[in-house]
Amino acid sequence: MSEENSPSFKDLNLAPALLKVINTVGYETPTPIQAQSIPPLLEGRDLLGQAQTGTGKTAAFCLPLLSRLNPKLKVPQILVLTPTRELALQVAEAMQTYARHLKDFQVLPVYGGQNMGQQLRQLQRGVQAIVGTPGRIQDHLRRGTLKLDKLSCVVIDEADEMLKMGFIDDVEQILTHVPEDHQTSLFSATMPKEVLNVARKHLKNPIEIRIKSKTSTVEKITQHFWQVKGLHKLDALTRILEAEEIDGMLIFVRTKVATVELAEKLEARGFSSAALNGDMTQMLREKTVERLKDGSLDIVVATDVAARGLDVKRISHVINYDIPYDTEAYIHRIGRTGRAGREGKAILFVAPREKRMLAAIERATRQPIKAMALPSRKDITSRRINLFKEQISSAMESEDMEFFEELIDEYQSEYDIGHRKIAATLAFLLQKERPLNPDETFVEEVRVERPERDTAPRRERKTGDEQMQTYRIEVGRKHGVEPGNIVGAISNEGKINSREIGRIRLFDQFSLVDLPKNLSQDILHKLKGVWVCDEQLQISPDSGYHSDTRENSNKRRSFIKGKPGDSRGYKPGAKKATFKKRGPKPEKS
Ligand code: AMP
Repeated sequence: MSEENSPSFKDLNLAPALLKVINTVGYETPTPIQAQSIPPLLEGRDLLGQAQTGTGKTAAFCLPLLSRLNPKLKVPQILVLTPTRELALQVAEAMQTYARHLKDFQVLPVYGGQNMGQQLRQLQRGVQAIVGTPGRIQDHLRRGTLKLDKLSCVVIDEADEMLKMGFIDDVEQILTHVPEDHQTSLFSATMPKEVLNVARKHLKNPIEIRIKSKTSTVEKITQHFWQVKGLHKLDALTRILEAEEIDGMLIFVRTKVATVELAEKLEARGFSSAALNGDMTQMLREKTVERLKDGSLDIVVATDVAARGLDVKRISHVINYDIPYDTEAYIHRIGRTGRAGREGKAILFVAPREKRMLAAIERATRQPIKAMALPSRKDITSRRINLFKEQISSAMESEDMEFFEELIDEYQSEYDIGHRKIAATLAFLLQKERPLNPDETFVEEVRVERPERDTAPRRERKTGDEQMQTYRIEVGRKHGVEPGNIVGAISNEGKINSREIGRIRLFDQFSLVDLPKNLSQDILHKLKGVWVCDEQLQISPDSGYHSDTRENSNKRRSFIKGKPGDSRGYKPGAKKATFKKRGPKPEKS
């Protein structure tokens, strides 16, 4: 469904208590999955939905199911099955929020590892919705502590994940405890045949919904994503605002409330910005857009709806502060830049759990989105210095300086101090509030670009590297390792010249390092026992198989040290390696 013809929440016949909460949480319009799922779910139909996290699917099932809840009945009426404890907690929390205006509503998250006694007490008190992982739900069913005989709705969330984790049989088993005439919805990001089999078996004449990824081309726009990590989004945004050459910027967030909050925070940090959302009067909205057009405002923080069709040529940057719900919204958002033949830049903030949406967007735009590293301290310093110089030049040109020139002459003769020293002191005073050189609190990111070289086909990359071999070492980002530590340890302990150490890629649990082929057994043996960041290297030739998908996906953010001789990332002597060599690792208490 395209944004243009999406209905409003008011059109969807949700119960008043739910409409009220939608307003409080600030959702402006239903996301595509919500627009399509809510009406059939309100009618009591079964539903098969292909959609991933981030599309708003939690509200897509919570809102209609809560609308249909019988508030007087204090027994489980809704059961949501999730593959993980994290998702169970998240869904339960969302449901409790959406049910804020339903009197005495209780939802209970149920998952393994949680205190059983506490769960039992809560169950006895009477809950109307259960959100849990299949294993623990089965435990309760076996013990007879959970009765599902009054259940009216079952939701199977992230069915493909259930399958991957081996829970599908458990899900089917749980369904045998549910009354015949219940409503079932199944959501899955992908539809492998095992999931479809479950759907065929348990869904009755379901409505099928697929949040399609329309393809489109957006050539004039360079697209990057920043993996949200280590730094708050607001701090990352501030850094980008400082380092980039920006004309106008449009920042997208999910809610009306967030437009105002973020615009205020940016103002507080000294960036001229304003919110644009559907709560504002048409006149105020037009005025804001006018100000953006004429340059009296540089940053607008908007929701998708409010920015619909916005055509402002000077928008050089679109920041997807919150990831959009579907690929169409993304394409619409970034299309607000690169207008009238100009170049545009789009940056997308992606939390780890939103990686799937990133992949869907890449497919839809038929373009890889490059990972970006946040501007470094050096980038920020050099930009601040340039701006400072520009400020000096422009003041020099436009202002009459006679009075000040005399003042400086007077100072010089009174104190016998050179012009250079006086100018430097004045410069210092001028930048005191916001130093040209960011202070020690500046957190440097490991450079995590996905440079051209890395996106080239493997074969091409290999040429020239024939003398090298990739080795795996068992220390990774999680242990706090940095490329400098690895180079230091390998060059010192293995007596390998640091120039001979090639590309280093950091993953969460391990790292890959390119070293000269045919290292002697002696050296390898020695390197195996070396400790770096409290982990032994355990070096071994890389098999190319990395089972942990999270590690695999981190590949896109690999650190490239470059060819031998390239000093990017590690300069011998510039940074002291913090590797430690020591005896056996102490037992953890
Ligand atoms: P989900 O796909 O269910 O994990 O939802 C992703 C995020 O989108 C959550 O943070 C929701 O609060 C938010 N969200 C869901 N529906 C809407 C909506 N209609 N408008 C704005 N944000 C929404």
